Amino acid sequence: ASLQKKEIIPIITNVLSVLDYQLRKSKITTQLTFDDSESLVECDENKLKQVFLNFIKNAVEAMPNGGNLLIAVKSSEEIKVEIKDNGVGMTEEQLQKIGEPFFTTKNDGTGLGLLVSFKIIESFKGKVYIESEKNKGTSFHISFPKANNTL
Ligand code: ADP
Ligand code: MG
Repeated sequence: ASLQKKEIIPIITNVLSVLDYQLRKSKITTQLTFDDSESLVECDENKLKQVFLNFIKNAVEAMPNGGNLLIAVKSSEEIKVEIKDNGVGMTEEQLQKIGEPFFTTKNDGTGLGLLVSFKIIESFKGKVYIESEKNKGTSFHISFPKANNTL
């Protein structure tokens, strides 16, 4: 697959606008923060949209009674994206099983969203780590190498 240099922030705002109705219906307030430096990532734009869609949908599903979704983009040596919710969170056991095929805690879940997302992130040389606390919330930290703007 051929990768292209894309700004990550418009990709995230696009996904947020696609989910706007669902977010409002679910009484979720959203905050997107970023610094004004470039956030170019070498990626396939549609696949990266799929990744953010998966993470944000999981966050929505983790906040059945509403809540706050925070997305923070930071650009330094790497492009870092944090997606944080204050939803149901995960136990230590659940956290261990994250990304295993078919691991789901939902009646109608597939347990494939994160697995696919992690593979896509890996294919862009990105990394992920997760922080989660039961009944408090979850943060997904994703980082990508910064794409060089001059090449
Ligand atoms: P699915 O959403 O179909 O269950 P995923 O691969 O997207 O499959 O997620 C797997 C599991 O990881 C979920 O069922 C849930 O238990 C847990 N999970 C993922 N994201 C979150 C989150 N933001 N908060 C709490 N649990 C989460
Ligand atoms: Mg999911």
